[in-house]
Amino acid sequence: MNHTKSEQLFERSKRCIPGGVNSPVRAYRAVGRNPVFIERACGSKIYDVDGNGYIDYVCSWGPCILGHCDKEIIDAVKDACDRGLTFGAPTEAECALAELIRGCIPSMEMSRLVSSGTEAVMSAVRVARGYTRRDKIIKFEGCYHGHSDGLLVKAGSGALTQSAPDSAGVPADYAKNTLVARYNDEASVRSLFEANRGQIAAVLVEPVAANMGVVLPKDGFLEFLRDVTKTNGALLIFDEVITGFRLGLGGAQEYFGVTPDLTTLGKIVGGGMPVGAYGGRKEIMETVAPRGCVYQAGTLSGNPLTTAAGIAAIRRLCAGGKALYQELDRKGRYLADTVKTAFGEKAQVNRAGSLLSVFFAANPVTDYETAVRSDTREYARYFNYLLDHGIYTAPSQFEAMFVSAAHTQEDLEKTAEIIRQFVRES
Ligand SMILES: *Cc1c(COP(=O)(O)O)cnc(C)c1O
Repeated sequence: MNHTKSEQLFERSKRCIPGGVNSPVRAYRAVGRNPVFIERACGSKIYDVDGNGYIDYVCSWGPCILGHCDKEIIDAVKDACDRGLTFGAPTEAECALAELIRGCIPSMEMSRLVSSGTEAVMSAVRVARGYTRRDKIIKFEGCYHGHSDGLLVKAGSGALTQSAPDSAGVPADYAKNTLVARYNDEASVRSLFEANRGQIAAVLVEPVAANMGVVLPKDGFLEFLRDVTKTNGALLIFDEVITGFRLGLGGAQEYFGVTPDLTTLGKIVGGGMPVGAYGGRKEIMETVAPRGCVYQAGTLSGNPLTTAAGIAAIRRLCAGGKALYQELDRKGRYLADTVKTAFGEKAQVNRAGSLLSVFFAANPVTDYETAVRSDTREYARYFNYLLDHGIYTAPSQFEAMFVSAAHTQEDLEKTAEIIRQFVRES
C-alpha cells in the first residue's frame, strides 16, 4: 500500500495545525505511525488520498451507524442547503427533531440542541447544578465527557494515550468540584456521597463506557447509581453521546431499563453533522434560559443542515426498528466471536450490540485500572496489520470499534480472514 500523498499532507498540515490534526486521536500517535488522509467514503468503505480503500470500523467514531453517504441523509442535507445554511431563528425541523428524540427516549421530555457532545455534557452538568443548587459532581475514572474544563479529569480516550489525563490549562479550582469514582465500584461512589453530604449535584456516567475501550456496567451498577442519586437528592446523568441510538432506538437507558434524570446525545443524532443534545424531565429542563435561570445558548444550535441530517437518520433507524438493531447485534457478535476464537486467552472482547473492543489483556476488563493493563504495543501491531490489509479500526487500544448497517457479510468475512491471518503470521 502506498501512502505518499498522506505523508505529504501530514507534513504540510503539521506546519499549520497542531500535530497536523483537528482532534488528537487522529494523529495515530498511539499506534506509532502517521495518519492516512481520507478523501471520500461510501457505505462501509472509506478511501484515502492515495486511492487505498478500507472497510471502516471507526465510522467517524460512531455517527455513521447507517454507513457513509446514506442516500436519504445526503438528500435531506442537499435539500436543506438549498433553503439556507443558518437563520439564527427557530425552525420547524428543530421541533420535529426534539419530538423524534422524545419519541425514542421518553425520559427526554424536553431537549436542547447544541453543536457538539462536549457542549451537551457541559450544559447538562450546568443544569444539574442550577436545578439542585449544589456544586459537586461525580464522574468515573476512564469515562470521557468531552473536553470542557471541569470534565477533563481522568478522562480516558485521547487523554489516556497521550498520558496526560489532566490537561494543562485547566485551573485546579475548576476541577476541584469534579469527584472521581471507579467504574463498576459501588463502594467508591458511596464513600464520595458520605464525604460530601448534601453537596453532590449529579452523578455523570457513560452507561456503557466506550472511551477506555468498551467497558460494560456490571449487573446492578446502573440501578445502584439510580438509587444512590435518588436517595441523596442528586441527579443521574447518562452520557449517551455514543450509546444513544447505538444500543437501540432508546439507547442504553432502554437497553438496561434504567432511567436517568438527564441524558446527553451527540454523534448519531446529527446524522454525521456536528451535533449535541441534552434533555430530561420537563421540570428540570425548564430551568434553562429563557424559561429559567440556567444560561445556555448557541449561534448555530439547531442548525438546519444538522437537523435535516439528524431527522433523516433517526427516521431511517425508526423504520428499520428492532430488525435493524438485531442485525447490528448479529454483526457485532460475529466480529466478537471471530476475535475470541482467533486470539483465545490473549485477548478480551467487550461488546454491547454493534459497539465493541478488543483488549490485549489476559484478564477481564471491567474498569480503568484493568483497561490500562492492556498490551498497547500488541494493539498497535494488530492495528497496523489490519490497516495495511484494508481494515480501518480505531488507532488506539482505548477506543471502540463501530459496526454499521452498511457492513455486509462479505465485509465481515474479509475482516475475519485478515484477523486470522494476523494471528497465523504473528
Ligand atoms: C464523543 C463523546 C463526547 C464528546 O462529543 P464531541 O462531539 O466530540 O464534543 C462526550 N461524551 C462521550 C461519551 C463521547 O463519546
